[in-house]
Amino acid sequence: MDEKNDILSLTFDELQDYFADIGEKPFRGRQVFRWLHNRCVADFDEMTDLAKDLRQRLPDLARITRLEITEEQLAEDGTRKYRFGLHDGLEIEGVFMPEAKRATLCISTQVGCAMGCAFCATGTMGLVRNLSAGEIVGQVEAVVSALRDGAQDRPVSNVVFMGMGEPLANLDAVASAVDILLHPMGLNLGRRHLTVSTVGLLPAMERFVREVPVRLAVSLNATTDEQRSRLMPINRKHPIAELMKTCRNLPLQQNYRITFEYVMFKGINDQDEDIERLARLVKDVHAKVNLIPYNPCEGLPFEAPDEARVRVFADRLSDLHVTAMVRRSRGDKLKAACGQLVTGLKSL
Ligand code: SF4
Repeated sequence: MDEKNDILSLTFDELQDYFADIGEKPFRGRQVFRWLHNRCVADFDEMTDLAKDLRQRLPDLARITRLEITEEQLAEDGTRKYRFGLHDGLEIEGVFMPEAKRATLCISTQVGCAMGCAFCATGTMGLVRNLSAGEIVGQVEAVVSALRDGAQDRPVSNVVFMGMGEPLANLDAVASAVDILLHPMGLNLGRRHLTVSTVGLLPAMERFVREVPVRLAVSLNATTDEQRSRLMPINRKHPIAELMKTCRNLPLQQNYRITFEYVMFKGINDQDEDIERLARLVKDVHAKVNLIPYNPCEGLPFEAPDEARVRVFADRLSDLHVTAMVRRSRGDKLKAACGQLVTGLKSL
């Protein structure tokens, strides 16, 4: 696809430049941005405040490639899983999780993933391709439109980039997508309501915190290099000490805290020694820890931790002055961790 004409991927500023480039007043860019990212229209013809000749001209110059929701599943607790069809026939997935005070949508940033985490089905696919900014934003806008049409549920208030793919391996598109989602003339989401997750791509993390004004989550998942290298191959390149040093020194914006995601696997990283080591690892970092009990997945050699163990783990971290929360999975067999959303979809 010609990325130049992929108009959904252009940020607010880029869209104004684009209209100047095609000989129109830049304010046309503002109008079109609002139609695209606030009203979520799919056709230039619906942009009724544009002059008719411009509406007729635009389809020859640019395309609005909306994602199609090809499948939707609803769990008893209100969680909705979506499968989105892309223009080239590939598919990605996202999960909408309404709660009392917020409604979170988890979205994908790549088709497949190159990171190869041992507990994640997405990793077994390898990387197929990056998503464009328009395809990342398009997941949110497709769900917002579907919820509006259904006149039910609360709108999306939070977005987490924790679906298929490693977001920081597609940082340019992620940065543009964040810019679009935050813009007051678009969906106007709050910057504290967006979280981008990473396995720990160190140079990209530094760029991310300088350039992208939303929260960062790091998938830690282990307290020793032996454990983590088994679970996450990236650890062979960037061992835990190097990762934690980077986290300690990141110039975090606006007093943001890093969230460390810690998926708990029975007998692997849920032992007493792990509690002590985890507390030591995070003690100098402005951070909190999310404990995520693993949901077993067919074909993968990992088990869920015992309930009592999870409680002890959280309580003892708290005794050691670590802010830790247990994040329960949503929906029947829904996986809460990065990439596990995809793993779980077929079994919902
Ligand atoms: S857990 Fe996330 S980073 Fe790891 S393989 Fe799965 S999608 Fe990729």
